[in-house]
Amino acid sequence: MSGLMTDTQQSLLRTMLLIAVPMHIDKLCPLTPMRRCEIAHQCADVVAQHGDDLQAGGGHCAEAFNALARGLAAAALTAPGGVDALGGHWCADPWCRAASRFDHADTEQAATDDPEPITTPRQVADVIRDLADYLTEGEAA
Ligand SMILES: [Zn+2]
Repeated sequence: MSGLMTDTQQSLLRTMLLIAVPMHIDKLCPLTPMRRCEIAHQCADVVAQHGDDLQAGGGHCAEAFNALARGLAAAALTAPGGVDALGGHWCADPWCRAASRFDHADTEQAATDDPEPITTPRQVADVIRDLADYLTEGEAA
């Protein structure tokens, strides 16, 4: 299977994530930034391993979806400006109405990033992993 998803698949996945990610954010809120980074790494690995099942309905579909939602939640809580993926935006502000993390005025780091649209679970896994790496390096410094 190629990395491409149909518009209908993307739309359905985005809708499911708009419900699931805030639930995971609630659960991850009490954790330390370092623990959230570890969770982001673990989730990115699961999504990278089983992202095709999420797209094609394979045996690890539910596991991959939960890892995607939990990983996005971990990244949303720790990355400057939050995280954007599959047309959705999530950040630490539960009332945020920004369309993307690039709309956050106080995200110096985000403003320098390439706002390339992210459209597949595998790309999301890469974003989550990159954010977790960035944050882990920040913690270690
Ligand atoms: Zn936001």
